[in-house]
Amino acid sequence: MTETLKAAIRLDVVIVGGGLSGLAAAIETAISGHNVTIYEAARVLHEVGAGIQITPNSSRILQRWKLSDDFWASAAEPRQFIVRRYSGEVLVLENEFDKTIREKYGASFIGSHRVDFQEALYIRAKELGVKFRFGMRISNVNFDAGELMTQSGEKIRGDLVVAADGLWSLCRAQLHTRDFEGVPRPTGDLAYRLVLTLDQIQDPELREWVSKPACNLWLGPKSHAVGYSLREGTEFNLVLITPDDLPSGISRQAGSVEEMRALFSDWDPILNRFLALVDSVKKWKLMHRKEMRRWIHESQHSSFVFVGDSCHPMLPYIGQGANSAIEDGAVLGRLLGHIQRKEHIGKVLEMYEELRKPRGDAIVKEALGQRDVFHMLDGPKQRERDEILLSQIGKETKEAPFPIRWCCPQVQPWLFGYDAYEEVEKAVSGDPFI
Ligand SMILES: Cc1cc2nc3c(=O)[nH]c(=O)nc-3n(C[C@H](O)[C@H](O)[C@H](O)COP(=O)(O)OP(=O)(O)OC[C@H]3O[C@@H](n4cnc5c(N)ncnc54)[C@H](O)[C@@H]3O)c2cc1C
Repeated sequence: MTETLKAAIRLDVVIVGGGLSGLAAAIETAISGHNVTIYEAARVLHEVGAGIQITPNSSRILQRWKLSDDFWASAAEPRQFIVRRYSGEVLVLENEFDKTIREKYGASFIGSHRVDFQEALYIRAKELGVKFRFGMRISNVNFDAGELMTQSGEKIRGDLVVAADGLWSLCRAQLHTRDFEGVPRPTGDLAYRLVLTLDQIQDPELREWVSKPACNLWLGPKSHAVGYSLREGTEFNLVLITPDDLPSGISRQAGSVEEMRALFSDWDPILNRFLALVDSVKKWKLMHRKEMRRWIHESQHSSFVFVGDSCHPMLPYIGQGANSAIEDGAVLGRLLGHIQRKEHIGKVLEMYEELRKPRGDAIVKEALGQRDVFHMLDGPKQRERDEILLSQIGKETKEAPFPIRWCCPQVQPWLFGYDAYEEVEKAVSGDPFI
């Protein structure tokens, strides 16, 4: 177990945004002994009513943060990892997935409801003394003066400002008014997101799917689907990715259930039996951004840093956006535990960027690459992919590179085996603060 560090001085740290990345940065920074205030535009916590897959690289951190027993109890741990062709033919099958993952990485892979996850982080942050200012939208950033302004005209200063304001980050937009790095751009895909509860499901086979958690992927032309259980196997989360037909400028909209069913009508009958039960669904345009050149403000005495989607939005194809945000928070907060004087802030931020940016940018690319593998049109390339996948069924160790990166023997250990605390300790012992 990593010992708790307390910094030699107490900084005032301001965080813009109370999403998963802001909460993560807040928790580890507070554990390191600093005063933390989160400024959140929304009046209350407002996570999406959908699922999230938490992988060992972040569940390892959540264990150290001692999230509540209720949170762990409410999660569902997939016992199998299954990839199917859209027709239903099984292409990848890993039994005892839960056990194997725990054995390999010492931490679990779980499906959680986002509301439960955000609530657990919020409660822990409050226990650690983090202050929350809801309904406070930051509207202006003065990077040179280290000052923020809220929409209502309040000025805010901190020794350190953490931008955790998501994909549409105002902080990022204001940092790049001169050196413009663009706004979020459509990827060409959208996601239908929905959750079914056991109460809605009578079909015994479907009920078994929900109550015996597994991580299910279906791969089809220009589309894929992901299904997994939540809340102790009483709810089922489905994400269906298809070509984007939302008007430009619209990023979220209520979707038509009939239209969704029609798009997947020739897919696996079991998927269609789930879709037959749906009474409402939402559509989300999937956006990405150009790589951000720096994750910190470049001034000599930088005290401004980015975490989460504000600096590395990721396509959800390897489920790492929030998991990476948890890593960001753990690394930043832990580095802040080593600080002895205010003058060390610049060094902390440089080290944070060195530790986090290459990994974050590489995961963004992996996620993009998965899209091509998942969305192959029927034809020679798809047959080649399926042959590789099928040739590895039943083998204890797969051959790398394996097209499904979630279980590739090269990529999985790199993703899931990452230990944020170890990375910080290695970096600090190689380049101590004093
Ligand atoms: C379909 C889908 C499935 C996904 N599945 C997974 C998964 O399984 N696993 C995974 O790890 N990731 C997944 N992700 C990605 C993950 O959801 C995001 O990476 C993560 O939620 C980003 O968190 P964030 O805190 O950086 O940003 P956000 O959640 O966007 O939070 C930003 C916060 O900042 C606030 N804010 C914004 N502007 C201001 C301002 N000016 N002033 C004050 N507050 C402000 C907002 O109100 C918000 O609360 C998925 C994404 C999608 C779209």
